[in-house]
Amino acid sequence: MTLYLLEDRFHYELENIMRMFYWRPEISSGAPDENADEYCAAAAADEGGSVRLSVRFREGETILSQEDTVASGTPEKEMEHALSVMMYKILSEATGKKPPFGVMTGIRPAKYMADLMEKGMSADEAERFFTERSLVDPRKAELCRMTAQTGLKLRQHCRDNGFSLYVSIPFCPSRCSYCSFVSKTVERDRSMTGRYVEALCGELKHTSGIAKDLGLEMQTVYIGGGTPTVLSAEELRILTGAIAECFGAPTEGEYSVEAGRPDTITEEKLLVLKDAGVTRISINPQTANDTVLAAVGRRHTAADIERCYELARRLGFDNINADLIAGLPGDDLESFKHSVVWAAETLAAENITVHALTLKRASFLRETESEIFSPDASDMVDYAQRELTERGYLPYYMYRQKGTVDSLENTGYAKPGTECLYNLFIMDELQSIIACGAGAVTKLRDSRTDRIERIFDLKYPQDYLDRYEDMLARKDGIRDFYEWARRDM
Ligand code: SF4
Repeated sequence: MTLYLLEDRFHYELENIMRMFYWRPEISSGAPDENADEYCAAAAADEGGSVRLSVRFREGETILSQEDTVASGTPEKEMEHALSVMMYKILSEATGKKPPFGVMTGIRPAKYMADLMEKGMSADEAERFFTERSLVDPRKAELCRMTAQTGLKLRQHCRDNGFSLYVSIPFCPSRCSYCSFVSKTVERDRSMTGRYVEALCGELKHTSGIAKDLGLEMQTVYIGGGTPTVLSAEELRILTGAIAECFGAPTEGEYSVEAGRPDTITEEKLLVLKDAGVTRISINPQTANDTVLAAVGRRHTAADIERCYELARRLGFDNINADLIAGLPGDDLESFKHSVVWAAETLAAENITVHALTLKRASFLRETESEIFSPDASDMVDYAQRELTERGYLPYYMYRQKGTVDSLENTGYAKPGTECLYNLFIMDELQSIIACGAGAVTKLRDSRTDRIERIFDLKYPQDYLDRYEDMLARKDGIRDFYEWARRDM
């Protein structure tokens, strides 16, 4: 299917709408050949005093069209919205699909709803706004409402001069087939982790000096990856020691580490984390189905996950997150239901994060492009929403990604009081995230204007090491940003 756009100005939104219905649409400027067998064309034609908006569609015998007229001077955003709604309705009719977030293509629908509510809209009004204006499915509008309500209560923890520290460990023991992450395999690059940790500690020191000069307060810490626990116990000791020495303890008392995969977890490593003051770890099963785990290249079983949870519990970890993925190839609804109940009952995870499978361009699965998604993904995430909320978990952050099965969402659920503030802060862009390490993205937020500025560390560990001085120099941008943000204060 080809999308023809007569004007470039609506290109971004309309292309996003198209991608929700067609796997790999062609995008073309100009008008379609009327004799072509398939096309979708959107146009806004000035007619002196008014603008005629139209969407035309043809696929074989199916021919559909919609038109609307708006006054000249109507803001472009409104015209874009009207075209999006027309296109969504036509493509729904033609394909039988109803992407659940309607024409809302943004990646943070729950943040959007929370912002509306913070500006004075009631929860009912906000929910209606979603379903009526943006054609969001009522189930998703309700999920956004619940997520927004939990998130709004947590926003009070966020302070203007606060920041969260993110530390990146971009290594994994092997690459899972659905993942586009740039992690190197540790077997092959084992020698690099020592040098990497040493360099990272230097970057942390440099960055902490800037944060101290600016009087910033570190509220939470998050060590992510990759799989941080691929580091040896000694490397973890060095890294956590450097964080403590440079930044002190997080003022919100929240310190998270992605322990990720059981094939990297040992008692010695968990003890290092415990001693360092880590309060929350992730041990991620993705599914309780061993056949599916093997098929996606995870080198562990559900029993291995259970053993890791037992070990972590014995060592005193009382806040553990379990990631689950809906839509993995070979998985089905019954198996997924079992995974959800197992994570809540057997693992008794305090946090359960339900991801919908997303295939980025660089994943092995995407490269093979066979029948990749389980057809039940939508029912799976709906089931998780019902089951987890009935069991006392509440959704508290949510985000969407491009390339996700059925245009679904990822939702973090937590038992009240165990939410990870960092996840909310970063997903809802509530405060600055200062990030160190290869692939890390520092996101600075000016609380007066909501302006966001990013500073990137190079993606690949070898490049990061080769251009280390440049990485340190880039961090000076933090100082520049805050000096700019604090002008006239
Ligand atoms: S899914 Fe996680 S563990 Fe697997 S390759 Fe990606 S980052 Fe590593």
